[in-house]
Amino acid sequence: MHQRLNRFLEAVASLSSRLSPELSLAGTAIPAVDAARPKAANLSALPGAQERSPSASPLVAKGEAAGLSSYPPVEKWDEWEEYDPKAWPERVKRRYMLIPTTCFNCESACGLLGYVDKDSLEIQKFEGNPLHPGSRGRNCAKGPATHNQVYDPERVLYPLKRAGKRGEGKWVRVTWDQVLEDLGERLRKAFQEGRHNQVIYHVGRPGHDGLMEWVLFAWGVDSHNSHTNVCSSGARAGYAFWMGLDRPSPDHANARVVLLISSHLETGHYFNPHAQRIMEAKMAGARLIVLDTRLSNTASLADYWLSPWPGSEAAILLAIANHLIHTGRYDREFVKTWVNWEQYLKAEWPAEPCTFETFEEKLKELYGEYTFEFAAAESGVEAEVIRQVAEEVARCEGKLASHTWRSATAGNLGGWQVARALWFLNVLTGSIGVEGGTSANAWDKWVPRPHKMPPHPDRWNELTWPDEYPLTFYELSILLPHFLKEGRGVIDTYFTRVYNPVWTNPDGMSWMEVLTDEEKMGLHVCLTPTWSETAWFADYVLPMGHASERHDITSQETHGGRWIAFRQPVRRVALERMGQDVNYTYEANPGEVWEETEFWIELSWRIDPDGSLGIRQYFESPYRPGEKITAVEYFRWMFENTVPGLPEAAAERGLSPLEYMRRYGAFEIRAGVEAPYIQPVEAELLEDAHVDPETRIVYSRAPAPASPNITPHPAFPDDGGGRPVGLQVGDQALRGFDTPSRRLEFYSPTLRQWGWPEHTIPGYIHSHVHPEVIDQQANEFVLIPTFRLPTLIHTRSGNSKWLYEISHKNPLWVHPRDAARLGLRTNDLVRVSTEIGYYVIKAWVTEGIRPGVVACSHHMGRWRLQDTAMERWSSALVDLTPQGEGRWQMRHRQGVLPFESSDPDSKRIWWSDVGVHQNLTFPVHPDPISGMHCWHQKVVLEKARPEDRYGDIYVDTDRAHAVYREWLALTHPASQVSPDGTRRPYWLLRPFRPTRAAYQLPSGKFAE
Ligand code: SF4
Repeated sequence: MHQRLNRFLEAVASLSSRLSPELSLAGTAIPAVDAARPKAANLSALPGAQERSPSASPLVAKGEAAGLSSYPPVEKWDEWEEYDPKAWPERVKRRYMLIPTTCFNCESACGLLGYVDKDSLEIQKFEGNPLHPGSRGRNCAKGPATHNQVYDPERVLYPLKRAGKRGEGKWVRVTWDQVLEDLGERLRKAFQEGRHNQVIYHVGRPGHDGLMEWVLFAWGVDSHNSHTNVCSSGARAGYAFWMGLDRPSPDHANARVVLLISSHLETGHYFNPHAQRIMEAKMAGARLIVLDTRLSNTASLADYWLSPWPGSEAAILLAIANHLIHTGRYDREFVKTWVNWEQYLKAEWPAEPCTFETFEEKLKELYGEYTFEFAAAESGVEAEVIRQVAEEVARCEGKLASHTWRSATAGNLGGWQVARALWFLNVLTGSIGVEGGTSANAWDKWVPRPHKMPPHPDRWNELTWPDEYPLTFYELSILLPHFLKEGRGVIDTYFTRVYNPVWTNPDGMSWMEVLTDEEKMGLHVCLTPTWSETAWFADYVLPMGHASERHDITSQETHGGRWIAFRQPVRRVALERMGQDVNYTYEANPGEVWEETEFWIELSWRIDPDGSLGIRQYFESPYRPGEKITAVEYFRWMFENTVPGLPEAAAERGLSPLEYMRRYGAFEIRAGVEAPYIQPVEAELLEDAHVDPETRIVYSRAPAPASPNITPHPAFPDDGGGRPVGLQVGDQALRGFDTPSRRLEFYSPTLRQWGWPEHTIPGYIHSHVHPEVIDQQANEFVLIPTFRLPTLIHTRSGNSKWLYEISHKNPLWVHPRDAARLGLRTNDLVRVSTEIGYYVIKAWVTEGIRPGVVACSHHMGRWRLQDTAMERWSSALVDLTPQGEGRWQMRHRQGVLPFESSDPDSKRIWWSDVGVHQNLTFPVHPDPISGMHCWHQKVVLEKARPEDRYGDIYVDTDRAHAVYREWLALTHPASQVSPDGTRRPYWLLRPFRPTRAAYQLPSGKFAE
């Protein structure tokens, strides 16, 4: 099996889309495909292959020419034959129907092809969909491993209801009808009594676009809660203060310089779609620069690997900016036209001439202190290396593809300034919205609008959008336990959906405490495709479909282009193609696994069966007036009406838009980069428009044209003078950027107005783990707990046997110099103490980390409290023992063992270690501006004490609450600083935005 594992790893490393039979756990059939396939499938025959599909990409084309990559031709997808590998050496043919769907194992939404056996209707395997514009037929290991998730003998197949106390682990099977009746009645009562804010929907991996806006707006609730502040609030804030939109979309493939603050070749966001394009760029001569304290696989492939002290990244980026500014190698015309330098000079230097030359002088003054030597002193990276990197950026010729997500932006107090400093380099080099540069995500994303979109809710939920964080990017979800403990509210019904806060979030013991408190948490409904630590503390565990068991639309900004993909329940589609009627997806799924679109439609209908609450109207069919919409109708209508070019492309092939998406699984709306900011303002907006003579901003009083794309955009209020819709450039009215100034906001008036005048321009904030607060003599270290493993994905890979066979432990990376000082060797036990407790883990002595810093992957340390009802592939059996008020100890009773199940592989498990759950020992660290949980920890290392055992965890939740209060004290609440009596700047992006009226602070809260 070890041999097989090595070969699998090789396959993973090459990002191949195909697996060979030797790579699987014994007994799991993954048929060999080469023998049965034409060596060079005729990709040009695929519909849309030349003009729209990824198969025309250079990399695929090279692979095809070399005979290294082939896919079954699409015209044979209904009738595809391969030899049965289990029958070898006999040549026994098996017949498949190939149904496209979309991977659900990370946010990239790569295309998959499900091989449905036409005789047994079982899914034989998943491979890549060559027609998917993002992934182009290639997947990481987690894509094919969807097969494990579908056929996991441990999975939840039926709705379960708690029987004993919450968390006691006693369950009874119930019917879906009972569940829906109970929830429908409960929610109806809450809405009739005006308790909308007591209903919270908390999502981990959404996996769809647009669906929940439709549902939650129809309910009239401001109840959306996300995982974003354990993920990306920092990066989002940094980008949004610049341009209104909160994510980057690099065109890696055409870049001259790729600058990554993260590890996008192996694990960062959109890493498979990014990785293929970064490698294309490298093969074409681009330079790859990676800032990562840890030697990641990505860093090992970089031309320049910089290993900075955690939190010093912005100092390096600003030193590069300083180099560009002082050598005059920046795009002067771009900066002069598109940066709000006039606004900056008028606000900060009103006595000086408001000329671009003055601004250039100010830039030199502002960033002059960021010398290479300064950056070197802060980061520990040699000044000469930083100079070389700065030279590379200076030579990028407007083709700088940059990206950061999580990583430094998610680790540090002030991490949002890392994204702001990185985007500064794109601004200076003019690498925005151009080939080889970086765009805004919304330019490359398309979210279709449903047939009837409800209005924005007229409510503001302070449990998710508290007064203290008026500028936060997304909800303060990590603070929910503390808000409940403080009595800020109670929750009547709490939905968790593909979300595991007990395990994924910091401070999981505080989550356990509130989840088991029925006064604070009335009903916990866990919608999940798999068991999780959080499901254990639910009242209902409701099984939801994996990638091949549900419908969703997804669109991601994977490259310079725009596409949508259709996730499909492959067995349902196969059955329908064979002529069988399927009314609901659960009829074709295993057990009683539902898909969520059907769940939310059904639940909404039961909340408001007679329409008296105004909810039902949104769930009536556009095709059958007055009747309940089906999931298929929901998607069909969007394909027919709101995806540009799809109806025409479908008609060319004699298909309806739905049939097109069913058959090919994806549609490319646009190939190549587009820059909306240089496009003319829409004619209808100019009908009632005027230009401010001083700022040249175009204001319009005309209503915004209805767009079929509901990708979030900033919203600008019209307070009498119209809304800013563009910028006069020369004699043209161009759209500009999505900011109040319609320019790139180097200077952020918003940050000044809302209490942060010291942070209005790209800058460098000392992290909470800056060297000045780390006493290395006292064995204090910085812990990097954020890094991903290429083969795992948070909670959902817990039921993938192939993935856990590859990766199942998370030792602590320790530099040899530190190890020698502490007397540690690889595999020695080490106690890692945080502010609220400690954990005991094994050391891994490696030069892949810088001295003074340790690192531990967050994917590991799954646990379960009872032997059954949890993923036994991946979890340790533990004892959880109270140690007095607010103090908890967790101790491993046993690791993973082979077990009996319907899958013979469960008897062949050879690993026992599943790692240690470090997140339990972290208090919350919400950044006072972005709201990002600042993951990095100051820890104390020591050799394990005699009483310590591997996997031990100790936590003091009273102390966790005290740390929460310390960070809360850093904030500037809206009620104290709001310049206009609102809770939050209306123009800043906010998911599930309520009405403008709901933004108003309640009377008495506004300080003025
Ligand atoms: S990169 Fe993400 S979406 Fe793509 S195959 Fe891997 S897990 Fe699935």
